[in-house]
Amino acid sequence: MAKYKIELDEKTCIGCKACTVVCENFIPDGDKAKVVNDTIEQSEFKINKEAEEACPVKCITITKIEDKEE
Ligand code: SF4
Repeated sequence: MAKYKIELDEKTCIGCKACTVVCENFIPDGDKAKVVNDTIEQSEFKINKEAEEACPVKCITITKIEDKEE
């Protein structure tokens, strides 16, 4: 099964907390947000993708990790 890497650019994050409302894999961290698990399974992809799409400054990036790299 494919896995995905989640990255959150804290420099770009404006701390709006939209991602933390959408997906529990994102939590408030001071005036920013942070990722709880930066590697997720296929089953978690959809909700994390929704958080990525909810981010107004597009600072969340989800990248597929090829199986062979694991
Ligand atoms: S939605 Fe984007 S800008 Fe808002 S807290 Fe989350 S990562 Fe930061």
